[in-house]
Amino acid sequence: MSQVAPGGPPAGVPGRMPVIPGSFAYHRPKSVTEAVALLADLGEDARPLAGGHSLIPMMKLRLATPEHLVDLAGIRDLKGIRADGGDVVIGAMTTQHEIGASELLAAKIPLLGEASLVIADPQVRYVGTLGGNVANGDPGNDMPAIMLCLGATYHVVGKAGERRIPAREFYRGAYVTALKPGEVLTAVRIPGPPAGHGSAYEKLKRKIGDYATAAAAVLLTMSGGRVATCSIGLTNVAETPLWAEAAAKILNGSSLDPATVKRAVAAAEAITSPASDARGPAHYRTKMAGVMLARALARARQRAA
Ligand SMILES: Cc1cc2nc3c(=O)[nH]c(=O)nc-3n(C[C@H](O)[C@H](O)[C@H](O)COP(=O)(O)OP(=O)(O)OC[C@H]3O[C@@H](n4cnc5c(N)ncnc54)[C@H](O)[C@@H]3O)c2cc1C
Repeated sequence: MSQVAPGGPPAGVPGRMPVIPGSFAYHRPKSVTEAVALLADLGEDARPLAGGHSLIPMMKLRLATPEHLVDLAGIRDLKGIRADGGDVVIGAMTTQHEIGASELLAAKIPLLGEASLVIADPQVRYVGTLGGNVANGDPGNDMPAIMLCLGATYHVVGKAGERRIPAREFYRGAYVTALKPGEVLTAVRIPGPPAGHGSAYEKLKRKIGDYATAAAAVLLTMSGGRVATCSIGLTNVAETPLWAEAAAKILNGSSLDPATVKRAVAAAEAITSPASDARGPAHYRTKMAGVMLARALARARQRAA
């Protein structure tokens, strides 16, 4: 279904007032097939619309000027959280609020609920979706680093069919991802961490509702008082979310003693390259990534059986 552009004709057309975003046509498909066909027909001037809490602000600033919005909100198949064998599959249009409220996730992957609760504020979380958060490519978004940490895979559908992209290969630069024009991210598949794992997400922000100055996600398992497995993701300290593989390797086999944690923190800091901005100078943000990592490691350790 297509409707008249809510924005009306472009500024300057007699008798009509301009609105803040540029004008666009609105489409509301009922299925993924219909959405993909629409995006293919409309070409590069069309964008999927999910919760709109990143895209609409960009449009109001005229940093994004799509001529067509293909709203995914009417596609039931894109909603929901389900177990699938040892994995958990979350539909792209599942909201951040629904992730925070999910009993299945609380039992299997508590890291997700914890992270969703530090995203923005309740109003944003009621509408903002997981798919939008991870597809956006904004290094300030919290969920991408969580997905790197958890080893998630993104299900993507385009005119050529479905492909599955590991989150760790998805992010190429600020707002640049492996998504091709016309593709829709339909779901996120996450391998269930082993029972007894510990996890934590530590986020430094200037105030409630802010994006991270720096944040760190940790998932680990312990065996006989030593780290058996460890994975680390970092938020907003580079143009993309970071998977701190070398830092995690340093921790494997250790008892998380202070000297080893210090070496791992240094390895994590070494891969960061944040911008100096209103959240602080680059060096400060790198150091805060290290502090967040040390805190997340300590909390994940406490939580591990
Ligand atoms: C005041 C405020 C504070 C915020 N603070 C935070 C924060 O602290 N942490 C954080 O992580 N986020 C924050 N956000 C962003 C928020 O979480 C967004 O909701 C989220 O980043 C994008 O999700 P969305 O569903 O709103 O996507 P949209 O805004 O609709 O889309 C974002 C982008 O992804 C594309 N897209 C969306 N869904 C799909 C899909 N299924 N397939 C392909 N492409 C798709 C769109 O075309 C668009 O380019 C904040 C937003 C606001 C307004």
